[in-house]
Amino acid sequence: MKQRKMVFAVLASLTMFILVLAVNLMVTAVNKDDQTIVWATDVKKSKYNGVDIKTRVAEEALYNMAVHYPVFSEAELDEQIERYVRTKETQFFAELDSIGTEALSQQPASFSLTFRLIPAGEGFYCITFMTDTYTGTGENSVTQDTVMADAASKRFVSGRELFINPDKAARALQKPVWDSLSEEESENEQIAQHFMGEQALSNVYIEENNVIFAFPHGQTKQVRLPLKKISPYMKKEWRERFASNVTKEKPQAPETAEASSSGQKKKAALTFDDGPNPDSTAAILNVLKKYNVRATFYVLGSRVDFYPDLVERMVLEGHEIGSHSWSHKDFTKLSPEEIKMELDRTTAAVETAAGVSPLSVRPPYGATNERVNQIIGTSPVLWSVDTLDWKNRDPKAITEIVKQNVRNGSVILMHDIHKTTADALEEVIIYLQKQGYELVTVDELY
Ligand SMILES: [Zn+2]
Repeated sequence: MKQRKMVFAVLASLTMFILVLAVNLMVTAVNKDDQTIVWATDVKKSKYNGVDIKTRVAEEALYNMAVHYPVFSEAELDEQIERYVRTKETQFFAELDSIGTEALSQQPASFSLTFRLIPAGEGFYCITFMTDTYTGTGENSVTQDTVMADAASKRFVSGRELFINPDKAARALQKPVWDSLSEEESENEQIAQHFMGEQALSNVYIEENNVIFAFPHGQTKQVRLPLKKISPYMKKEWRERFASNVTKEKPQAPETAEASSSGQKKKAALTFDDGPNPDSTAAILNVLKKYNVRATFYVLGSRVDFYPDLVERMVLEGHEIGSHSWSHKDFTKLSPEEIKMELDRTTAAVETAAGVSPLSVRPPYGATNERVNQIIGTSPVLWSVDTLDWKNRDPKAITEIVKQNVRNGSVILMHDIHKTTADALEEVIIYLQKQGYELVTVDELY
C-alpha cells in the first residue's frame, strides 16, 4: 500500500514538472523513421490580440530546422495551421530521405518556416507562410503561401473565395497586374501559369486599402492594387467587411474650365446607357480600344441577360459597369420592393456575365428623389453633359454638344444602342484628347 502511494506521488510530481515545462519550454519527441527528433517548442505572446507565436527548433547532425507559426487559441484555426506546417515539414523530411545520410553528413540540410501576419479587418488576418529549404544541392528552394484567417467564422478564407467569379476576375485583372510587373517578370512562365491556372488568385490577400497579388515559386514579387479597384470583383460579404479599409473618398471637385491649380490633367468620363446592344456596343468598344480609353457602361439587366458576352468584354477591356435597372422604369413611380428587385436582378445578371458587381447606379431618365436614393443606398450617378444622341441621331451634333459643354470633371451622357453614337465617338475622343482631357471611368473621376 505504502509503496503504491510512493509511486503515485512520484508520478504526480513528475506530471507537475512536465506541465510546468510545457508552459514555456516544451520538449516533445516526434518519431520519424526510428530516429527521434528533439524539438524545442516555445510559445511567445505577441502584440496582436489573441494571437501568439509557436516556435519549434531542431538542430541535428544532418540538418537543422526552425519553424515559427501563429497560434490563435481557436481549435479549428490552430489545427489547420498545424496541419499546414506538418505538411511542409513532411515534405522536407521526404527530401532528406531521397538525399540519403551520406550526402547529408557532408552537407547538412536546413529548413525554415516563418510567417508574416497582417491584420486586415476586425478579427481578420492575412498570414503569409514562407519556407526556405536548403538540401545541399543547388539553390535554396523557397515557397510562399498566403492564407486569410477569419476569427469570426473560425476558418481560413482562400483568396479565390473573395471573388464573385475568380476565373473571370483573374482574366480581367491580368492586364492591371501585368502592367505592374517588369518585362522580365511578365514573360515568366511560372508567374503567368500561376495567375491564370486553376489556382488563380489563391495567393491574394488584403493589406489595409490594397489588394496584394503574390506569386509563389520563389517569386517574391508582389503586385498591389487599390482595394477600391478590386471591390467590384469581390463578393458582397467581403466587400462590406473591408469597406472601412477603403480610404474615404474625396468629395467630387467642382467642374472647372481649366485643370486644377495643382497641375493635374483635366479629366472627363464617357458614359453609355441602355445597352448592351450587339452592333452598336461592339462598335463603341472597338473605338474605345483603338484610343485606349476606358468608359462606364450603365447597363440594363434585361439586356445583359441577352448579351452577357458583351458585358464580359467590357470588363476584360477595363471598363466600369454600373446599373441602369432591369427594365428602365421610372424609379420615382415604383415601390421600394420594385426598385430593389430592379437592382438585384441586374446585379445578379452582371455578376453572372462578367464576375463583377455594378457598384454605381444611374436611375432610368435620371429620375430620382430622396426616397429613391435611400433605397439605392448610394448617391446616383447622373451626368453634366447630355449629348442628346438618342434624339438628334447625328454624329456632328453630338460632337458639337460635347465641344460646347465639356469641363474638367464632366460626366458625358451617351447611349450605346445607336449606330450614330458609335459613329460620333471617334471624333469626340480625338477632340477631348487634343484638349488635354484624360478620359477615365466614373469611379476614377471622384
Ligand atoms: Zn436610359
